[in-house]
Amino acid sequence: MNKNLIITGLPGAGKGTQAERIVETYNIPHISTGDMFRAAIKNQTALGLEAKAYMDQGNLVPDEVTNGIVKERLAEDDTKNGFLLDGFPRTMDQAQALEQIMVELDRKIDAVINIEVNTDVIKARLSGRVICRNCGATYHKLNHPPKVDGVCDRCGSTDLYQREDDKPETVENRIRVNQEQSQPIIKFYGDKGILHTVDGEIGIENVFTEIQNIIG
Ligand SMILES: [Zn+2]
Repeated sequence: MNKNLIITGLPGAGKGTQAERIVETYNIPHISTGDMFRAAIKNQTALGLEAKAYMDQGNLVPDEVTNGIVKERLAEDDTKNGFLLDGFPRTMDQAQALEQIMVELDRKIDAVINIEVNTDVIKARLSGRVICRNCGATYHKLNHPPKVDGVCDRCGSTDLYQREDDKPETVENRIRVNQEQSQPIIKFYGDKGILHTVDGEIGIENVFTEIQNIIG
């Protein structure tokens, strides 16, 4: 079985849902960068404290610190039967560092699962969220619209708005930045022959079936 895994995909591609299914089914830890940072800071490891110092000043955490935290995490016992890396590597430097980490830990990445969804679909998914200013109820133009257009089901207010992050132009920019960032990494794993691209528009169950086939 291929159980040393990386999962990747644009925001809104359904990566989170699939990651949950994978770690449940195969009983491997879900290692996301955010969780790793939080744990390192909470446990006050040397690298965690270093990362925190950068974040407290509003600075990006340098790659060497991030890579150190990843290595510490991947060396833990619960990864013996595999792991699912999520949100890492994000840069080519990090991808190279991960290669090195794998060598040092005498492991290898078995498969990179790339969930691909058309960017127009992603745009629609991500930019559909509206919120009631009066009571905080959230709706989605596509998946969960209010029963009467523009009126809150819960409180009847017509003051529905979009957060800055959910506006189409912000979403578009986020997708573009993400795509530019991930392209070289996707190519890197493609060249290594371990990239598996899954069509993310075939429904949650079917996507998961494809992923199970990849894991074996
Ligand atoms: Zn409301």
